[in-house]
Amino acid sequence: MAAERSRPRFAGIEEIWGEYEELTIQVNWNVSDDWSISSLIGLTQQQRVETPLDSKKDTAFRNALAELAARLRAGKVNDNCKTEVLDKLATIKGFNLEDFISFLEEGGNFYDGEKTTTLYSDYHPAISGGTQTVAQFLDRQDGVHAFTAIGKRFTTLTIFFDPAFIETKTKTSLISGDKLSGLTTSNLAFAFHEALHGYGNYIGKGVANGYFDSDLLSLFGLDGSGGSIAISDYIEKNCIKGVSEE
Ligand SMILES: [Zn+2]
Repeated sequence: MAAERSRPRFAGIEEIWGEYEELTIQVNWNVSDDWSISSLIGLTQQQRVETPLDSKKDTAFRNALAELAARLRAGKVNDNCKTEVLDKLATIKGFNLEDFISFLEEGGNFYDGEKTTTLYSDYHPAISGGTQTVAQFLDRQDGVHAFTAIGKRFTTLTIFFDPAFIETKTKTSLISGDKLSGLTTSNLAFAFHEALHGYGNYIGKGVANGYFDSDLLSLFGLDGSGGSIAISDYIEKNCIKGVSEE
């Protein structure tokens, strides 16, 4: 009798527990759902943004990149370019001038780093973790005007700029004779410098060994105390400036 009485009571508890379990699951689900809306969507979709360059800056940089490729292809560079830059680059593992020019001709993806809120560590696999955004990185680093993304997924040149350093002045192309924005000696050297990182990453399949700032500074015998801008200045002086304008 006692057993008969306790059985339905037990069944009743089981039923209540079952309902309670369901309720618990529902509560948890609601909590995580709420968390995913406020945190995941909020941070990853609304705040973590790669912002493209505005069209004026984008066009100016693309023009400079194309002009640089055309000048290298035509050999329309300063006389010192071969001995001071190209011959030295040829000593780095994997460098091939024809391939480098083809890489330049492919263009790339260019972003406004000042308005980009994805994480800086996403573009430099050597840096693990970190919560610094691209915009914060550029703001905190004096003398850094841009950086090129490193990693396997960047098969074309991918650059995050402080757009203030892209010049938009119109100059005549030494190759086509067209008047185009951005063909300044500074932009051409800037494009050469960043494209070396991108090319190194491309041929290194996600690792730019031999093509980082420290490598290029020592290759060209430069003192890096003033920052990597020394690389652009060196290229500008030896390859870009002093070429007769038509
Ligand atoms: Zn650099």
